[in-house]
Amino acid sequence: EAGRELLSASDVSRTIARIAHQIIEKTALDAGAQDAPRVVLIGIPTRGTSLAARLTDKIEEFSGVRPALGSLDITLYRDDLRTRPHRPLERTSVPEGGIEDALVVLVDDVLFSGRTVRSALDGLRDLGRPRAVQLAVLIDRGHRELPIRADYVGKNVPTSRAEDISVLLTEHDGRDGVYLRQE
Ligand code: 5GP
Ligand code: MG
Repeated sequence: EAGRELLSASDVSRTIARIAHQIIEKTALDAGAQDAPRVVLIGIPTRGTSLAARLTDKIEEFSGVRPALGSLDITLYRDDLRTRPHRPLERTSVPEGGIEDALVVLVDDVLFSGRTVRSALDGLRDLGRPRAVQLAVLIDRGHRELPIRADYVGKNVPTSRAEDISVLLTEHDGRDGVYLRQE
């Protein structure tokens, strides 16, 4: 049972397109057209990586400029590594050209406590020194435990802790859609 639909397949496409437009707009505005930063999208596996890839395609389609794309496994940087069972390491791929002086946009499917993003910031530190780091998420479900917010949000969904957001993406699940489920 999938749960209550929050985003249909077409909502997911439209939301990704909107965030792509917002990234283009915000990065151009921030740069004041003069010294435009190199934009690098870094997805947090697994579904963040697929979302980052789709955003990269859309940004190229809308702006003519293709951002570099990478992914960052945060397993080794989690502050609860010792208290959680180990899982196989996901893929880290450093974007072409690295992240030095780039505008890095971290991309994930769901933002919850903020601990994953905090870990990703630690991981980035080992790859270089970006000019700035921003965050894009498909769903912000609240319950932050750290002073972290997203620059680009597909949809804000107030949740209880007992609920769970189910993010389906064609690349992994055969179709797109976002659902709210009771645990
Ligand atoms: P946080 O570290 O902010 O507590 O949780 C965010 C990470 O855990 C993200 O990588 C996200 O994929 C996953 N996550 C947290 N809550 C949910 C949820 O309700 N649904 C899904 N699909 N992922 C979640
Ligand atoms: Mg995740």
